[in-house]
Amino acid sequence: MIRSDKFGIVTIEAWPVELPLSAPFVVASGSMSVAHNIFVRLTLQSGAYGYGEMAPFPDISGEDQAACLAAFPAAAQCILGQSVLNWRKLLYQLAESTREMPSVRCGLETALLDALCREMGIPMWVLWGGADVRVRQTDVTLPIGPLDQVVATARAWYARGFRMFKMKVGHDVDEDVRRVEAVYAACPQTTFILDANQGFSFEEARGCMEAMERLHLPVMVFEQPVARENVEGFVALRRRGTIPIAADESVRSLDDARCLLEQRAVDVLNLKITKCGVAESLDIAGLARASGIKLMIGGMVESRVTMGCSWSLVLGLGGFEFLDLDMPLLLSVDPVQGGYGYEGPALQPWDGSGLGMEMRNEPSSVIVVE
Ligand SMILES: [Mg+2]
Repeated sequence: MIRSDKFGIVTIEAWPVELPLSAPFVVASGSMSVAHNIFVRLTLQSGAYGYGEMAPFPDISGEDQAACLAAFPAAAQCILGQSVLNWRKLLYQLAESTREMPSVRCGLETALLDALCREMGIPMWVLWGGADVRVRQTDVTLPIGPLDQVVATARAWYARGFRMFKMKVGHDVDEDVRRVEAVYAACPQTTFILDANQGFSFEEARGCMEAMERLHLPVMVFEQPVARENVEGFVALRRRGTIPIAADESVRSLDDARCLLEQRAVDVLNLKITKCGVAESLDIAGLARASGIKLMIGGMVESRVTMGCSWSLVLGLGGFEFLDLDMPLLLSVDPVQGGYGYEGPALQPWDGSGLGMEMRNEPSSVIVVE
């Protein structure tokens, strides 16, 4: 018999953290050189605790650090005092109370699940079922930039063993095509995911896709080619081209996913827990599996805390075809120790409890909800 009182949530803390990127992260919809994130620590009656992270990307989700810190106390209050044994109920409660603040939801969900798994003494991927526990390779992102610089960056990743590049496009079709061509010429064993971050009109997206086909560039997926609401554009691109189409910004919720599937608009869904939360990502993953749609998993500009939770879904649920879990490699700091590791592009499973991570530094200014 599990003593359930040990699992009650007694304290939830949050503090801001600045995570500089090694190089500016430029995509069609904006750019970032420092991630202004927030760490969360959730403590149980037993003394066990877990970590989470809010990773707002203002140009993509509209949230920023100040808004997340302001929303944190009320969101934390809604689960305070409850038992994490009822984790799914708590996750759905959080989803209701943070509808417009997905990164707040994700930070609290991750901390809650980490604390639960630590108290139970299991790695987080065990909670999801351990369906696909093995080493996996991630892609690496090449942001938009001057051609020579992007090729030099690609060569450096290639030398470290990376063989799948996520090329950010959506800025200018001709330049984008030249960049992909040049990277392929420099790194001949690679395959590509193109991510336009909503930057193209339908005609531009079609032009980009046709150029890729004409030049025989090995593009595995074309992600978010057009605007979030342009579902007809997705459908038309899928009909015309041979490259699988993925939705990212177009899928922020289970309803979004259902709508895209009903209209046969996508081949691949890109899940991000910072975008959809953990509970809703679980539901979307189930829907995708039932519908025969492929899954990608990615993230915003986040540390190994959030990415560790995402990686746990890959290991635990199975069924993820494309891994875009490179973000911690693009940061110039690693604020945590322990947990999963990278060897070149290979993500290693871990066997510590929860996420298996500890903070390298104790925070100075903390908001406490207790
Ligand atoms: Mg994307």
